[in-house]
Amino acid sequence: MSRSVLVTGGNRGIGLAIARAFADNGDKVAITYRSGEPPQELTEAGVLAVRCDITDAEQVEQAYKEIEEKHGNVEVLVANAGITKDQLLIRMSEEDFTSVLDTNLTGTFRVVKRANRGMLRAKKGRVVLISSVVGLLGSAGQANYAASKAGLVGFARSLARELGSRNITFNVVSPGFVDTDMTQVLTEEQRKGIVAQVPLARYAQPAEIAAAVRFLASDDASYITGAVIPVDGGLGM
Ligand code: NAD
Repeated sequence: MSRSVLVTGGNRGIGLAIARAFADNGDKVAITYRSGEPPQELTEAGVLAVRCDITDAEQVEQAYKEIEEKHGNVEVLVANAGITKDQLLIRMSEEDFTSVLDTNLTGTFRVVKRANRGMLRAKKGRVVLISSVVGLLGSAGQANYAASKAGLVGFARSLARELGSRNITFNVVSPGFVDTDMTQVLTEEQRKGIVAQVPLARYAQPAEIAAAVRFLASDDASYITGAVIPVDGGLGM
């Protein structure tokens, strides 16, 4: 059955692969993106693309209104949008810290809170949050990012407890290093250093993260909530 699915940050990288996976399923997919143009392949596949900065509650509200008008209540939410602003603590400004938290954690709160309204009415819902292996292991120069990604785990597990009886599940996918724009900033030497620590000895492709997300949103995962699924090639074990 075709569901209304929303993927935040669905115009590129991991979010794009997730949007593709649900569109291939025959679901009604909407994506939000912050800037640029959504890829033509998505619009051609009938995916609804809505510009929305998740740090702005008003833009989140407007985006939901448009999506609900065109696709009905969001039944599956994938909160994928995220940023990095890497810096050693000694040089990390308060803005570097709070802006990453405001996007990755509070931005996720904004989209989840708004989706929850329709899910409560429908008496069902699936929420998948994209965290990171860095949230579990920590990473020098990424204290802001790691704090935001670890925060998502507590957030999801609290909501899994709060809303399980309402038939709404909350799960987390925790990717390792994935071949996307976000990791293009790393030098060849840094990439080699990372790969040397990954048991599967390579980066993930975005589609490998999307496969886990699609599973958690499927009927096959009907009794899974509060789970953190690592898709990290073994890096975090
Ligand atoms: P990316 O930089 O390619 O894409 C990030 C997406 O987030 C973009 O679509 C962007 O528009 C959106 N976004 C950022 N700030 C936003 C805002 N304020 N409002 C709305 N949208 C916003 O990154 P990616 O590698 O595809 O990462 C996607 C998610 O996966 C992120 O949450 C990231 O932290 C996480 N992740 C990535 C990796 C990796 O190695 N690439 C590893 C672990 C986790």
